[in-house]
Amino acid sequence: MSWKIVEKHRRILAQEEGVTSKRRGGKLTVCLVYPNRYTVAMSNLGFQAVHALLNAETDILCERAFLPDPDDLREYRKGGTQLLSLESQEPLSSFDVIAFSVSFESDYLNIPVIFDLAGIPARTVDRGASHPFVMGGGAALFLNPEPVADFLDLVCVGEAEALLPGLLDRIRAEGLGDREAFLDKAARLPGIYVPSRYEVTYDGVRVVSRKALGGAPEQVQRAWMAEPDDRATVSEILTPGTEFADMYLVEVSRGCPRGCRFCAAGFIYLPFRQRSLESVKAAVTEGLRSRHKIGLVGAAVSDYREIGELCRYILDQGGKVSVSSLRVDRLDGEMIEVLKASGHKTVALAPEGGSQRMRDLINKNLTEEQILAAGDLLIGHDILNLKLYFIIGLPTETTVDLEELAALVVKIRERVVAAAKKNKRLGEVILSVNPFVPKPFTPFQWCGMEGEASLDKKLKYLQQAVGKLPNVRLIAESPKDAYLQALLSRGDRRLSTLLLRAAELGNWKRAAREFAIDTDLLVHRSIPLDEPLPWNVIASADPERLKREYRRAFSV
Ligand code: SF4
Repeated sequence: MSWKIVEKHRRILAQEEGVTSKRRGGKLTVCLVYPNRYTVAMSNLGFQAVHALLNAETDILCERAFLPDPDDLREYRKGGTQLLSLESQEPLSSFDVIAFSVSFESDYLNIPVIFDLAGIPARTVDRGASHPFVMGGGAALFLNPEPVADFLDLVCVGEAEALLPGLLDRIRAEGLGDREAFLDKAARLPGIYVPSRYEVTYDGVRVVSRKALGGAPEQVQRAWMAEPDDRATVSEILTPGTEFADMYLVEVSRGCPRGCRFCAAGFIYLPFRQRSLESVKAAVTEGLRSRHKIGLVGAAVSDYREIGELCRYILDQGGKVSVSSLRVDRLDGEMIEVLKASGHKTVALAPEGGSQRMRDLINKNLTEEQILAAGDLLIGHDILNLKLYFIIGLPTETTVDLEELAALVVKIRERVVAAAKKNKRLGEVILSVNPFVPKPFTPFQWCGMEGEASLDKKLKYLQQAVGKLPNVRLIAESPKDAYLQALLSRGDRRLSTLLLRAAELGNWKRAAREFAIDTDLLVHRSIPLDEPLPWNVIASADPERLKREYRRAFSV
């Protein structure tokens, strides 16, 4: 065992607030693994919520493990130490259950790395009763679990609050000793997907057939928490090692009622559920005991029905408010004053579509006048730095749409400059540009992603047109990263081979070449509406609504 790693784990633990220590003694032991680094994992409220949910059970001990930082990774490999849990520094192989929490599909690449470090075979077919039982959950897995389906005994499709109680009861009743018998029964539980109970055949990139075996349902329906007030979702563990070190996070709502056609959050967390003001205030009061700043969390925070009253409450209690971005059409003077009083110098808005045609296509329901009015309102309240989110490469986008995007940015910049003349302070317009990635369970799931070369050209155009203007800064997600995201979002089970080899080579492109996987076809292909989709073994959104929205978008 590496003492360097043990020491580091102890140092991290010593800095954490809110950890409860438990002893193993006869409990079911679960290691909750986030397939990315500690900092990323502990900034994730979903990961923290599952950890707390499991530890709330008296007969369960849940510890955490992460992808090691690069230095630690070298240390693990040099010393041949097996991957250790954070709390007790026990090897993952000593736990009864390993539970992956996966929010982003790009982390699929890290799952085989973690198996390798843990000394546990990645494929379910290569594991036996002496190995931990391996399950997974999280948004990436209820978008498309197929690329990692061969690694997981079981997948939770939906929200942990709705799924874990039934699953844990079944584990208590049956035990995990006879894996196959347990999986047969688990496959019939609502929201539980057992990949080994499905036989899939392919023709090229297309799914030809899928057969459910041994009484498993044809399709696993997503499960969701019916009563959001039953359990608060808040920062359970506070630590300096996260993006949100200075704040206490409180979830105010789940889901989003807006239905933007590119956005998975708008479909896979439906219905839109709002926590009661009373319960959110209670969570805020608790949070203010340890942090001055409250980070409000939700896909649609500014749609929270009592957002004004909640923000006033936080300020009245001597706290500060943080929100990640605001709906343009929900912005008002009161909200801006709250943000100013909380020390916000920059406010983020998300028009997403640069032209009116693109905003209509994605169902953003925003006009240019509304965007400019929101900018004016912010500038008028002395918030001079505006961050604007845009997507490029949306289906049917042309240079005319990009020109309109650039013109919109110029108009906003002119307003910022005009304000600077009056008050002698110049603000900044930050343009955050992301390539469109077609996501499962959105109306655009059938659309292919635009080619890398074309996206690069568009970014170059924007850089020329607006990126060089004084007090405008353009930051863009690389089309290469977006390509990988699309590949892992749209892939099928056969990608597990690529993931395993990519972990060995440290290079997924070489792995794809070795297996002659046509990744371009998977990423760029437009899929016919009637073709079976790899991820349709689960049902995270209403397929008829998705088709309807697709047809509305493209008038077909
Ligand atoms: S983009 Fe924002 S407003 Fe639109 S559906 Fe997604 S979360 Fe809701």
